[in-house]
Amino acid sequence: MKLIFEESKSGRNSFNLPESDVSLKNFPVELSRSDVDLPEISELDLVRHFVNLSRLNFSVDTQFYPLGSCTMKYNPKILEKASNTPEFSNLHPYLSILPECKDRCNGALEIISDFQDMLCEITGMDCATVNPMAGAHGELTGIMIISSYHKSKNSKRTKVIVPDSSHGTNPASASMVGYEVVTIPSNSEGEMDVNELKKHLDTDVAAVMMTCPNTLGLFEKNIKQISEMAHSVGALMYYDGANLNAIMGKVRPGDLGFDVIHVNVHKTFGTPHGGGGPGAGPVGVKKFLEDFLPIPRVKRDNGSLVVISSSDKSIGHVSSFFGNFAVVLRAYLYIKLLGHDGIKYSAEMAVLNANYVMNKLKKYLKLPYDRSCMHECVFSLSEMAKVGASALDFAKYLIDMDFHPPTIYFPLIVKEAFMIEPTETESKETLDKFVDTIIDAVKLTEQNAEVFKEFPKTTIISRPDETKAARDLIVKYEKVVS
Ligand SMILES: *Cc1c(COP(=O)(O)O)cnc(C)c1O
Repeated sequence: MKLIFEESKSGRNSFNLPESDVSLKNFPVELSRSDVDLPEISELDLVRHFVNLSRLNFSVDTQFYPLGSCTMKYNPKILEKASNTPEFSNLHPYLSILPECKDRCNGALEIISDFQDMLCEITGMDCATVNPMAGAHGELTGIMIISSYHKSKNSKRTKVIVPDSSHGTNPASASMVGYEVVTIPSNSEGEMDVNELKKHLDTDVAAVMMTCPNTLGLFEKNIKQISEMAHSVGALMYYDGANLNAIMGKVRPGDLGFDVIHVNVHKTFGTPHGGGGPGAGPVGVKKFLEDFLPIPRVKRDNGSLVVISSSDKSIGHVSSFFGNFAVVLRAYLYIKLLGHDGIKYSAEMAVLNANYVMNKLKKYLKLPYDRSCMHECVFSLSEMAKVGASALDFAKYLIDMDFHPPTIYFPLIVKEAFMIEPTETESKETLDKFVDTIIDAVKLTEQNAEVFKEFPKTTIISRPDETKAARDLIVKYEKVVS
């Protein structure tokens, strides 16, 4: 496809503006440019350009998107509509923190407060903040809270423990707060090795960060024991709630011994994924950590809403105002829409779908941890890679078959990892079609693994240098002069 600049033809345009009624006589000449190289294009060609460009997008609304760990949930359209009502979208954020204006945004504050309460009910926490803007941002906020807590006790702790299956953001968040990261290997069951943990757990440890179910899609059966061990040396338990979708309404991290959690609303409560843009990673804590929560904060006090704008112990601001209210609003509506039973049912279906796919495929692909999974399952394509079709090649093949590839090469502890997360909303027909497509691919490797190097054939660019594409992003058009 051509760039819009390449479609430009001198003299064409797609607009009609009235004559300017402002005199430009006094406009400084040095600020006026006549050499602006803007594309010149007719209205129809402009419309076609952007519509065709949009059709190159891959999305949950168009195709199956089983990206493990990232949970590409369907976002119900009614959430978009409701969150765009002018009564919400036209509110100025300053209304929320100027005491004389608060009454004019009580509805929004009430939603934030109710959402915090619902989050606490689902996760077993006592208080929450909606201010962090993404999962990783929630982690950073949570670890800052833990750090402030230990400092308030004059306890000098220097380490944070994570399992080797953890998401890369966990060690990154801990080290951004200044902690040394200690990684505990997983055992043959795919869970944190408790004996290894014992060796590293001492009064230098500020927190143990866990994802449960973990990134192998497996429930950590020893989680209560791990919590008790951590607490016995004064360390806190941090819950990475990116995978809460698997257990919401069923198990509460707070009841498992976790002290601080964050939730990825985009992987749990049907809000759009940020893509670096607007997201939300609300954080919940147990009562003894309440004072450390970021400001501003809204809470209910004797039935009326109070906005807390300053607090001695608070870690301070982590975002402007209350983070991304429009995203929190969608998450609130999602929970309201599903209700008590719907939330549970959603988790059950997510787990059922993943186990269905896992059981259908395990005859064909190597399953390193062969036990019931939660919301996702992780295969190893190491055998296929030996004959010339790696996890990357399988992923590229799926693009041509109209499926988004699963997550590959993560978690790092599985060789040639191939991590499938169907989510709760997919039909049996879609799952069957996906499974059949993978089985076809396995047969193809037996016949002629070489052909895999040619996929994808249906995309504009087949195999970019992915590192270069991410590091040397060129977003400015420059005409090639030949
Ligand atoms: C997605 C994810 C994160 C990070 O969340 P973002 O919203 O992308 O910052 C952290 N941990 C796990 C396990 C995840 O899957």
